[in-house]
Amino acid sequence: MQTQTYRQLDRDHHLHPFTDFKALAEEGSRIVTHAEGIYIHDSEGHRILDAMAGLWCVNLGYGREELVEAATAQLRELPYYNNFFKSTHPPAVKLAEALSRLAPPHMNRVFFTGSGSEANDTVLRMVRRYWALEGKPDKQWVIARENAYHGSTVAGLSLGGMAPMHAQGGPTVPKIAHVRQPYWFGEGRDTSPDAFGRECAAALEAKIQELGEENVAAFIAEPVQGAGGAIIPPQSYWPAVKEVLARYDILLVVDEVICGFGRLGEWFGSVHYGLEPDLMPIAKGLSSGYLPIGGVLVGDRVAETLIERGGEFFHGFTYSGHPACAAVALKNLELMQAEGIVERVRDDVGPYLAERWAALADHPLVGEARSLGLIGALELIDPTTGERFAKSLGAGTLCRDICFDHGLVMRSVGDTMIISPPLVITRAEIDELVRLAREALDETARRLAAREQADESPFREESGS
Ligand code: PMP
Repeated sequence: MQTQTYRQLDRDHHLHPFTDFKALAEEGSRIVTHAEGIYIHDSEGHRILDAMAGLWCVNLGYGREELVEAATAQLRELPYYNNFFKSTHPPAVKLAEALSRLAPPHMNRVFFTGSGSEANDTVLRMVRRYWALEGKPDKQWVIARENAYHGSTVAGLSLGGMAPMHAQGGPTVPKIAHVRQPYWFGEGRDTSPDAFGRECAAALEAKIQELGEENVAAFIAEPVQGAGGAIIPPQSYWPAVKEVLARYDILLVVDEVICGFGRLGEWFGSVHYGLEPDLMPIAKGLSSGYLPIGGVLVGDRVAETLIERGGEFFHGFTYSGHPACAAVALKNLELMQAEGIVERVRDDVGPYLAERWAALADHPLVGEARSLGLIGALELIDPTTGERFAKSLGAGTLCRDICFDHGLVMRSVGDTMIISPPLVITRAEIDELVRLAREALDETARRLAAREQADESPFREESGS
């Protein structure tokens, strides 16, 4: 079918996630038809470097036959069976064992889900259940962070701290509080990064004291906030948070949906920052996005209580540990190990990206260029003032659209441009990514200057996971 036909059918029948339906109907969708390596292709013949790895997930890149084979073989053997009613199947068992081997030593069990959102629903159920079984049923509050993204189910959005989502979500799940995020460029520039990191940790401690330790179940956070804007916390943040947590008996939940599976150059972001989580929600890179699968890695402390004292845990999903998804995830992990993907990110392409990306800081539009492993961000600023552009100019969205036109997927979160490319990206492809980003920045600067002169206000806010 031709592009126009697809666009028409899409407009008539398809409600897209995180989308202004009316605006998209006016503009029409981009139809992505096929992909290989780190490139996607659209129906109009454009080849586009996908610096977002789909939605932070296609870590091994597109077109990996081994993953296709793993799915096909499993679909032939056993396309579906559940893990309820004392049953299981080889792919779920093997994946559970493989994950326990890769996870920190004190994490030896996994509860499977179909997505990251379901993983965080599971987290909420588990932490409250844990404390009830420990004889402390009042410990129900979960502390999360402003501007965090933990999914789009009701529990996910409640744990998340995205104001536009809360505004639409109706009453959120009770007993979830939010503290400030360690976003130095956005919120802390009047002080040093280290002092700001410590302030954010102090805000967590103040919240624990306000709620009362006896009422707090857990703190949940991503090692590096992804959808919030690739927010790499100041060096002082995690050590200071660890000090706070050591003073109180509350569980630590580290959301590894983006940072897990090599993104920060370790198997888990927790390892990079030396954290010892009680629970780790995972998804995305677990299967390189080839099939949907998520889960919660459960530390021994929580697992033992759930097992020894729990009785039945009334929770689970039809597709918890789906055989084909589990088989693809298992193969994905095998390939990552065989190809040394995590070490490559840590020792080779991660440092290389850091060097090339940092060079973009000399662009007049860039207020900060930061990266860690294979996640990065550029903060756009008005070169004439050194401050943010007026929101009405829509600088980030404009830059994002220009990137697409230049053959690059780079996402915008407000005026923060973010990347999270496939972990298989080569040095030459990083050069291309940075060149395309610079071209897009040049074009954005030209168009913004014209907009400022014409005093256009085309901005429409967009958010998303
Ligand atoms: N947690 C984090 C940190 C995420 O980035 C996301 C998705 N972007 C989720 C949870 C939710 O995952 P899913 O979209 O698979 O439900």
